[in-house]
Amino acid sequence: MFSLFLPERCVHCEEPSAHARNPKTKEPFSHYLCDVCLRMLHHQETPEEQTIRDEFGKLGKIIEYAHCRAAYTFVAGSPIQSVIHSFKYDGMVKLAAQFGKSISFLTPREVNVIIPVPLHRTRLAERGYNQADAIAKAIASQTKANVVPASKRARPTPSQTNLPLPKRIENMRGAFVLTRDAEKIKGKNILIVDDVMTTGSTLASVAEALLHAKPKSISTLALAIAEQTAQ
Ligand SMILES: [Zn+2]
Repeated sequence: MFSLFLPERCVHCEEPSAHARNPKTKEPFSHYLCDVCLRMLHHQETPEEQTIRDEFGKLGKIIEYAHCRAAYTFVAGSPIQSVIHSFKYDGMVKLAAQFGKSISFLTPREVNVIIPVPLHRTRLAERGYNQADAIAKAIASQTKANVVPASKRARPTPSQTNLPLPKRIENMRGAFVLTRDAEKIKGKNILIVDDVMTTGSTLASVAEALLHAKPKSISTLALAIAEQTAQ
């Protein structure tokens, strides 16, 4: 029998989940992944901050980030890809929250405000929730920081998938504006959170909008950074 609330199959390979095989396991993702895929996930190295900075550097922007972090590398065909797909398209918001909790240790110590990359309201209505928001709230629950929705999408942006870098930058220009809550981030150390960072053009565009609200520092945290391929 399948559980009514949690999938008992691995979201990546569809083998029985680690929890289905061993209900006593304390592994936080055991309801969603099998033992083999869990091992693959845990063997991934955390990307270097410099790798992420280099990506932002390619955008030609002048934002100085205090920290740029990610927990995983998003490799095509890997368990993390299936995990992110599951919470983006299959409504597994609890899975997003679970991952948010597990990456909260990457929050820079000085951060007091967390800002999820917003979805446009039409996309939000389709999906029912914003996965970046779910991750941000879960991180906040483990830290002293508060989630402040200081930015919103000014317009829906076409899908970035398969767009070359110059087009992505163009696509995101002016895509984000400040909300009334933005005044709460003045003088704060803020952390912008997203699920996947590909070129960084989305995170950078949010950061640019938030600069106008005069935060003390800006850091970024993505659950995963796309594997870098020659562009
Ligand atoms: Zn599996």
